[in-house]
Amino acid sequence: MNYNKKTVKDVEVSGKKVLLRCDFNVPQDKETGAITSDKRIVAALPTIQYLLEQGAAVIACSHLGKPKNGPDPKLSLAPVAKRLGELLEKDVIMASDVVGEDAKAKAAALKSGEIMLLENTRFEKGETKNDPELAKTMASLADIYVSDAFGAVHRAHASTAGVADYLPAVSGFLIQKELDFLGGAIANPKRPLVAILGGAKVSSKIGVINNLLEIADTIIIGGGMSYTFSAAQGGKVGDSLLEADWLDYSKEMIAKAAEKGVKFLLPVDTVCGDGFAPNAKSQVVKAGEIPDGWQGLDIGPETVKLYCAAVADAGTVIWNGPMGVFEFSAFAKGTEAMAEALSNTSAITVIGGGDSAAAVEQLGYAGKMSHISTGGGASLEFLEGKELPGVACLLDA
Ligand code: ADP
Ligand code: MG
Repeated sequence: MNYNKKTVKDVEVSGKKVLLRCDFNVPQDKETGAITSDKRIVAALPTIQYLLEQGAAVIACSHLGKPKNGPDPKLSLAPVAKRLGELLEKDVIMASDVVGEDAKAKAAALKSGEIMLLENTRFEKGETKNDPELAKTMASLADIYVSDAFGAVHRAHASTAGVADYLPAVSGFLIQKELDFLGGAIANPKRPLVAILGGAKVSSKIGVINNLLEIADTIIIGGGMSYTFSAAQGGKVGDSLLEADWLDYSKEMIAKAAEKGVKFLLPVDTVCGDGFAPNAKSQVVKAGEIPDGWQGLDIGPETVKLYCAAVADAGTVIWNGPMGVFEFSAFAKGTEAMAEALSNTSAITVIGGGDSAAAVEQLGYAGKMSHISTGGGASLEFLEGKELPGVACLLDA
């Protein structure tokens, strides 16, 4: 996949109507519907402000939640329009539908420097089916399509990909940054490229391990998935997370790494607990020697030393998946030590995956990374080397 895409800066937007796909899928209070974090709205501001300053008329759109049967007042984007208006210090005109009479009339009347927001794109059944009729009608509201919803680019929906069949399509600044860092790390990394892979399960990271084995110089394994690798090599893993169906796969990956000359590092020790709980009793044991009744919840101190040394002279580090159960402070040390090691390297450091991003933020290292991807699922599919419909549909630079 080509990651080098045209951006808003490569097209003339002045005096044009721009359909801007944002990721306004904000978390809301279940009872009151109040927006509990406006991070995603704030993140969209640079592209919106640029378009407005250039004299475009901005028709923003997004999905919110998962409405099942058409319009659902609880999942209206009206609260987002209000918050966006406060942040922009400007009126945001709210349409009461996506491509109905109201949206069409308001889009037609929208002037240069003004912004409106369409209703939740998933109020239209055709959205998730990538219905060409819906895409065509959405496209008819505007002259140019700008996508800035990285969190949704792995989905081929009418508003994330389909519209690009009918309009010139470019990226906004958020997607551009994701492509620069994630795309750069994968397609043209400064070497050595070290991939740190962890998280709960091997089965959810098969594609990632497979793909990174093709491009990385070193792969570091931590987290719950490491116990399946350990068991595959005959280790005792006690009550640790173990995916018996993936033992053969784990062996194959170790063999593939050897064949390709990729350094493949597995934990040499582990911090285990006598239960899965924040206050579990803990002890450090050698990898593969976890007693019955105990489970591995973090990488051990010797592993931390080994892994920190492995990233010290990296050119690029891609990190997906925490090294342990970082949500429990007693088992967060491995993840924290890796975050600290990354903050001390001169490597380009790219964090992908929802929980990995949360871990780095929670532990206070967010500002020290080159890039933390904003799209959990999208960043995983990126690391799997999959074609992302919402990126592939944009014009090549
Ligand atoms: P990401 O969202 O970054 O892709 P994952 O969803 O794969 O990451 O994994 C994150 C989860 O893995 C965390 O909730 C963490 O608690 C869990 N985890 C890490 N190590 C272990 C372990 N040893 N045992 C059980 N769960 C673990
Ligand atoms: Mg996750």
